[in-house]
Amino acid sequence: MAKADLHLHTTYSDGRFTPSELVDAAVLAGLRAIALTDHDHTGGLPEARLRARNYRLEVISGVEINTVWQERELHVLGYCIDETLDWWVDLLATQRQARERRMERFVQRLQDQDVPVTMADVRRHAGHGALGRPHLAQALVENGVVSSEQQAFVQWLSYGSTAYVPREGMSPVEAIQAIRKAGGVASIAHPKGLPLEEGNLIETLIEAGLGALEVVHPSQPPVLREYYRSMAEHYGLLWTGGTDDHGPKGGRPARIGSDSVPYAVVDALKARAG
Ligand SMILES: [Zn+2]
Ligand SMILES: [Zn+2]
Repeated sequence: MAKADLHLHTTYSDGRFTPSELVDAAVLAGLRAIALTDHDHTGGLPEARLRARNYRLEVISGVEINTVWQERELHVLGYCIDETLDWWVDLLATQRQARERRMERFVQRLQDQDVPVTMADVRRHAGHGALGRPHLAQALVENGVVSSEQQAFVQWLSYGSTAYVPREGMSPVEAIQAIRKAGGVASIAHPKGLPLEEGNLIETLIEAGLGALEVVHPSQPPVLREYYRSMAEHYGLLWTGGTDDHGPKGGRPARIGSDSVPYAVVDALKARAG
């Protein structure tokens, strides 16, 4: 059966593979289609598409927009968007500027607490793309402040720790509307832990144009996948999935292809897009 991995990161956000390396890895994993879903960035697509021409691999346009909902992060995936639209490019640039400002405040707070780290240290780990906390965690390991990225998060970077800076940015409704306007289908990334059915969150998101839920994700065991699959069916939504692979890390091999969805999911997304 032809398979697709629809949640993948590259050096255009916090992934380790360049778009070309990701395409090569996808081919090795025997995939028929992939979606690049970099955080707040669609700049990796041209390179991935160019590389994929050598193979029988389809590259779907994608994005993962980090939004803020009641002071928490809610990630919205977008598929089959026209990423060349001027307003879309500007919108993501604005999102990335908000990330940049947040990172400056993180670094400032760390420096105020005598932690040796600078913006230049963070940028060294960020490749082309959107700055994120994982880059700051890598810088803290490199500077000997902590012994692992996990420790960096626990001690300094997660909600409630002394250097934590709340995120600012688009709301989930705004992200979904933007994805729809760009001709795409919006899906809630790794919904595990989000109280979708409390209050009327899911109804609000559907009203904004939500088209799918991410059912297959490494953080979601079979019982949760079943739960989200039936929720999607109940609300007339499509389902999506992928490995959320960020490339090989700390001796661990890349996960790409270790989890996947049938290629039919790609057809369903295309049918709903536009
Ligand atoms: Zn995410
Ligand atoms: Zn992701």
